[in-house]
Amino acid sequence: ENEKPKNFIYEIIDEDIRTNKWGGRVHTRFPPEPNGYLHIGHAKSICLNYGIARDYNGKFNLRFDDTNPEKEETEYVESIIEDVKWLGADFEDRIFYASDYFEQMYQYAVELIKKGKAYVCDLSAEEIRKTRGTLTEPGVESPYRNRTVEENLDLFERMRKGEFPTGSKTLRAKIDMASPNLNLRDPVMYRILHAEHHRQGNKWCIYPTYDWAHGLEDSIEGITHSICTLEFENHRPLYDWFLDELNIYHPQQIEFARLNLSYTVMSKRRLLQLVKDGYVDGWDDPRMPTISGLRRRGFTPESLWNFAELVGVAKRDAMTDIALLEFAIRDDLNKRANRAMAVLDPVKVVLVNYEGEEEVEAVNNPEDPSAGTRKIKFTKELYIDRADFMEDPPKGFRRLIPGGEVRLRYAYIIKCEEVIKDDNGNIIELRCTYDPDTKSGSGASNKKVKGTIHWVSAKYAAEAEVRLYDRLFTIEDPAAEKNWLDYINPVSLKVIENAYIEPSLKDSKPGEIFQFERQGYFCVDSKYSTPEKLVFNRTVTLKDSWAK
Ligand code: ATP
Ligand code: MG
Ligand code: MG
Repeated sequence: ENEKPKNFIYEIIDEDIRTNKWGGRVHTRFPPEPNGYLHIGHAKSICLNYGIARDYNGKFNLRFDDTNPEKEETEYVESIIEDVKWLGADFEDRIFYASDYFEQMYQYAVELIKKGKAYVCDLSAEEIRKTRGTLTEPGVESPYRNRTVEENLDLFERMRKGEFPTGSKTLRAKIDMASPNLNLRDPVMYRILHAEHHRQGNKWCIYPTYDWAHGLEDSIEGITHSICTLEFENHRPLYDWFLDELNIYHPQQIEFARLNLSYTVMSKRRLLQLVKDGYVDGWDDPRMPTISGLRRRGFTPESLWNFAELVGVAKRDAMTDIALLEFAIRDDLNKRANRAMAVLDPVKVVLVNYEGEEEVEAVNNPEDPSAGTRKIKFTKELYIDRADFMEDPPKGFRRLIPGGEVRLRYAYIIKCEEVIKDDNGNIIELRCTYDPDTKSGSGASNKKVKGTIHWVSAKYAAEAEVRLYDRLFTIEDPAAEKNWLDYINPVSLKVIENAYIEPSLKDSKPGEIFQFERQGYFCVDSKYSTPEKLVFNRTVTLKDSWAK
């Protein structure tokens, strides 16, 4: 018995196996609606559902819940397949489309009509809503509720044939307009919608609602545990009612708390608005909480799995701190990212007593000896980061100051002899001397300095663009605000057009990840990088920059 996470869903499944409820089978599914790109909340659901199938040697379906033609597109289907595969949730050939079950769903509806359990209603959507009642008041029965089975069968068939305009009729389940559960007050099963479906074309003009369709999809596929988010808890009695009335295979619906992440929004409706209104550069903008955005930002599948594990599976909604996601990626990249030197805000250093050039040896990854070492050219003219020099340093500043010494990583100790400024008083060059006895690893001198800084050779460095990202929103829970767009962080992206990177980075490929020493983890952007000029996205800083 391998070790499984202990959450309440695993406890339910363990018990089902003990009682042989499903004949020992475990079969889960991930059922996205193709009306947008997947986000980190979906990733959590994928990890949960696929993880269960994997841990119990069960099966996992990817199923498109494509019952809503107006909002769905093939582009979304394709992106979802790519994202689920990238996460490593292997659905093999088990990819399904709810719309492929439309005929069977229709036949099931006919069965319910024949049982006197469904009727065609001529009330508008608005009238249905108004007659539904409230938590304290029962609903009002539709005047069409007592149509005969024959009339209902005839009208329903004509609905399908396209005889009636969009929105003019519905098929409703005949349950109980006084039920304390509003979902059981004669819910709509079908609505008329003359719209083209991305997969079915114009074959259908009646479309099933989520409540009617979802249990049928699960039943048809032989799902054992239908895991969904908490807002469907109140819908479970309806899920059960449909399957019981049809007397067909009946999976168990289990609800868990959806993932909410601070400083971002997660509903597809809101994410779509950010894209459409140009607040971000597409669904895969590295600031987006989408799987494609996180991938472009430099997140690994492993980091998302670890994150899902850290968040756990709960029965009560909560807000997860985005710092936990940042922790998960930092932890993963620390192990796998090769180190490199890059200077984001360059100031030139000239070593007045150095001539010629030489190679120094640098460690690729101190966490992974198998990553080896590389050679870096050291030259008379270098760049260091502006922040590593201060003319009037505060107490405790350990880097370069006038007349002070600092070590250049993997190379020598240098001393600042002269500060050159332009007419406006901006520092344009630091004239320094190097101490030839202090080469790293040589052991020739026991001189010690407090600080070590990174650098690149002015002669050999390549220019690159570096993009620094910050949180997309300035407040923890923007979705709770009516004017949520007012809380977009106006400086969530800072573009540095001419950073310098060490020459070993020149041939890196889109998606490759590095730790720029002392600065953070960066990955080569897959959208804007060219062979002439790479673009790097900062995945995450080295430490939580929000800590004091
Ligand atoms: P959204 O509200 O973001 O539009 P949705 O629930 O409408 O999402 P679906 O495509 O229907 O999106 O979701 C597919 C599956 O992913 C569902 O089983 C749903 O419960 C799950 N899911 C969606 N959002 C989250 C979330 N934030 N946390 C966990 N699971 C989620
Ligand atoms: Mg949904
Ligand atoms: Mg939705």
